[in-house]
Amino acid sequence: MLRHQKVYVIGGGFAGVESAIQLSKRGFNVTLISNRDFFYIYPLAIWIPTGEKTVEDISLSIPELARRHKFTFRKGNVEAVSGAKKEIVIDGETLHYDYLVVAIGAPKMQTPGIAQNSYSICGEPDEATRLAGEVQKIITKGEGTIAVGFGGNPKDPSAVRGGPAFEILFNLEHLLQKKKLRDKIKLVFFAPMAEPGKRMGEKSMKALIKYFADLGIQEYFGRKIKSFEPDGIVLEDDFKIKSDLTIFVPAGRGNELLMKSDLAQSEAGFVKINGYAQVDNFNHVYAAGDAVDFLGPEWKAKQGHLAEVMAKIIANNMYVQVTGRGKMHGYEDHVNILCVMDTGREASFIFRDDNKAHFMRMPFIGHQMKQLWGHYFRASKMKRFPRIPGM
Ligand SMILES: Cc1cc2nc3c(=O)[nH]c(=O)nc-3n(C[C@H](O)[C@H](O)[C@H](O)COP(=O)(O)OP(=O)(O)OC[C@H]3O[C@@H](n4cnc5c(N)ncnc54)[C@H](O)[C@@H]3O)c2cc1C
Repeated sequence: MLRHQKVYVIGGGFAGVESAIQLSKRGFNVTLISNRDFFYIYPLAIWIPTGEKTVEDISLSIPELARRHKFTFRKGNVEAVSGAKKEIVIDGETLHYDYLVVAIGAPKMQTPGIAQNSYSICGEPDEATRLAGEVQKIITKGEGTIAVGFGGNPKDPSAVRGGPAFEILFNLEHLLQKKKLRDKIKLVFFAPMAEPGKRMGEKSMKALIKYFADLGIQEYFGRKIKSFEPDGIVLEDDFKIKSDLTIFVPAGRGNELLMKSDLAQSEAGFVKINGYAQVDNFNHVYAAGDAVDFLGPEWKAKQGHLAEVMAKIIANNMYVQVTGRGKMHGYEDHVNILCVMDTGREASFIFRDDNKAHFMRMPFIGHQMKQLWGHYFRASKMKRFPRIPGM
C-alpha cells in the first residue's frame, strides 16, 4: 500500500534529507528534489571563514545518501507548489503527488548593500569560500577592522540566527590570537536588538557579554541597520561602524515560491502547520524546518535539530494517515534551543526549554566535541556509523 503512494520531498537540507530517509525506512516510494545535489551541513560552516574547513568537508553527496537509504533523488529547481491540485512544478515540468513534504528552508532578509558589501555563511556555500579569502587578505595585510553581526525579522522573531555570528566572531578572535595579530586587527560586533542572545536564556546572554569584554570586542547593540557600505555599516541614526570586512548573518524570511502558493502561511510568509506538521489547509502536505511557522513558546528558534525531529514525526504521521495503524505524534514538546557554541579554543553548551535554561562552559574539550559531532553526523548519515538515538 505504501509503495503506491507517490511522496515528494522538496529541499535537500536537514529537514528534507531526514524526511526522505525516514519515509523510505517506513516503506514509502520517496523522491527527494533539491536544487543542490549535496547536503550542506550549515552548523559546520562556522569553520570556513578561518580556513579550517572547506565546502566539500561539510557536504554530503545526496545521490550517495539516496543510494544508501533507498530513495530516489532528482536535482531540480522547484518553481511552484499546489496543495489543491496535488502538483509541483520542477524546471517547467508538472509532477503529481499523493503526499508532499515542504523542506526548502528560508531565504534571507535583505538590507540595502547587503549583497555587495557583506559576507554570510548562511547563504550559498560559495559565499563562505569567498569570505575565507577576504579573511586571509586582512591577515596578510596585518591590519584592519572586521565587523560581525546578525539581524532579525520583525514579523517572525524565531527566524533570527544569532549563534553562528557569535561563533564566527570568537573563532576569528582565536585565529588572530594564534597569528599574533589581535592587537593590530580590531573586532567589532553589532546587532539591532538591545539584548542579542537573550533567546538562549538570561545566563547565556550575560556570559556572552562578559566574554566580549574579556576579549576586548567592541559592541554596538540596539540600533537598526540602515545599509551596508564598502567601508562599514550605517545604523538608523546615521552612525557608521567603520569596517574593512563585514560578516553578517541575516534572519530568514518567507520563500516567494511558497508565498505564491495556496499553502496556508503566516504574515512573514512561513508555512503554517498544525501540531502534527501538516499544513493547516491541506493534510496531505507536511512541512518542516526553516520554511515553517512552527508552534511553540515565544523564545523558539528555527534550528537544524528541530528540523530533524519534525522529519521523523512526519514519517510516523504520514504512515499513520495512510495505513490507519498507530498514533500520530506532535512536535511541540520537542521545541527547545540546543546549541554547542564554539569559540575555537573551547565551547559552551546551551539548552533552553519551557522549564529550564542552561549555560555551561566546556573548557579544553568543547571545541573537540563539536568537531567530533561533525564527524559523527556525516558518518551516521552515510550509514558508516550507527545512529545514536536523539542525535
Ligand atoms: C552557520 C549556521 C550555523 C548553524 N548552527 C546550528 C546548530 O549548531 N544547531 C542547530 O540545530 N542548527 C543550526 N543552524 C540552523 C540549521 O542549519 C537550520 O535550521 C537548518 O539548516 C534548517 O534545515 P532546512 O532543511 O529547513 O533548510 P536548509 O538546510 O536551508 O535546506 C533547504 C534546502 O532546500 C533547497 N532548496 C531551496 N529552495 C529550493 C527550490 N526552489 N527548489 C529546490 N530546492 C530548493 C536548498 O538547496 C537546500 O538544500 C545553523 C545555521 C547556520 C546557517
